[in-house]
Amino acid sequence: MIDLSKLPAINERYRMFSEITSEASADAEFAFSAKDNLTAVGFRARAGSAILEGYEPVFDAACVEKMRSAGGFLVGKTNMDEFGFGSFSVNSAYGVPRNPYDAERSCGGSSGGAACAAAVMDGHVALGVSTGGSIACPASFCGVYGMAPTYGRVSKHGLIDYGNSMDKVGILSGDAKDLGRYLPVISGEDRRDPTSCNHPPLAKKFRKLKSVALVRSETSAGVDAAIRAAEEELRSMSVDVEAVSMDTLRYALPAYYVLASAEGSTNIARYCGLRYGRQDGDLSMKFDDYFTSMRSQYLGEETKRRVILGTFTRMSGFRDKYYAKALGVRNAIISEYKKIFERFDAVLTPTMPFISPRFDEISGMSALESYRADVLSVPPNLSGLPHVSMPCGYSEGMPVGMMLTADHWNDDMLLSAAEDWQDRFTAIPPEVSL
Ligand code: GLN
Repeated sequence: MIDLSKLPAINERYRMFSEITSEASADAEFAFSAKDNLTAVGFRARAGSAILEGYEPVFDAACVEKMRSAGGFLVGKTNMDEFGFGSFSVNSAYGVPRNPYDAERSCGGSSGGAACAAAVMDGHVALGVSTGGSIACPASFCGVYGMAPTYGRVSKHGLIDYGNSMDKVGILSGDAKDLGRYLPVISGEDRRDPTSCNHPPLAKKFRKLKSVALVRSETSAGVDAAIRAAEEELRSMSVDVEAVSMDTLRYALPAYYVLASAEGSTNIARYCGLRYGRQDGDLSMKFDDYFTSMRSQYLGEETKRRVILGTFTRMSGFRDKYYAKALGVRNAIISEYKKIFERFDAVLTPTMPFISPRFDEISGMSALESYRADVLSVPPNLSGLPHVSMPCGYSEGMPVGMMLTADHWNDDMLLSAAEDWQDRFTAIPPEVSL
């Protein structure tokens, strides 16, 4: 287990935690972290937002509670894009995590701190959350394994919601075996989360993955080369690989940003500077002026953009044009996946179209350009499907990830695939000198 005395120095360097423990871990069996949008007693929960400064939850999120009862020691809360809005973890009020392979590059997002912790700290298990790719993207950029289970498999009790119809708690680790070790720990029906479900429960003996449908997409040359090599390696592992096309995929991104912003904007409405976190404004103001001043001051730019976008697409007069249409697209994508799963165990794509960008490249991106980075990670999230990102190569010294997506409740096939892949693919860990 990690020597906790090094934690402050590690964090100073990589900024993966928004808060770290000051306690000792004498009898803990393993160390884990929780993304900062998951509540944990003894830690603040700020979801990367300044408006939640000072919020000290009085209960553990279900996943944290379960990890603690299994012998886990919570070492800290990991840094993230504010409320999950972002793909590079640059939208946090608490600093920006730095990629362990190149400090001038992003860890991905929004669970960037979680992926960084998993990459840098040996034997570390990070609890992450995905709404539209926030586990797969950072796992890919930081060269670790990241598993987002079937929607509903893990209770969301204690999660600061982003998009309730898509939010999923999952796991990131440098060791594929940890996914299979800890997903059963955090899974299960929970009466405190009415969307949680465990039918069928996670299989005890994970089934083997035998066939994958490869969906080719536009990527950088380095990502393409790594995926082609992985394809061959999978064949040599006796997995059937066949290229297929998925016509609905190109509609996933716009549909996702309509639905996720619509849901996100309703969730942000509760942060008005009176409940949770900050409530230290000028209370002599009229209430709506007070709310406006608190939100203007303490919500970040990207959050404001999502609130405006989401409120617009839900407005009467526009609802049918955008929100209802996006729901239709979502159904069409699910149907196309289901057709593929009649013939194949999983869909294979690169996780991200390029390697982790540098911060100077990110600051030059428009909002739309950064949304485009999610083109491959959004479809399984929109569909509630389990998916796993696995390191599969390197380009310019940076990790490349590939993503397998399986049918609902077939999480076990992905867990076995990740373990088998790890036996074949030797990842190069980042050089962490302290
Ligand atoms: N990048 C996507 C977004 O900004 C997904 C983030 C997430 O899964 N939380 O919405």
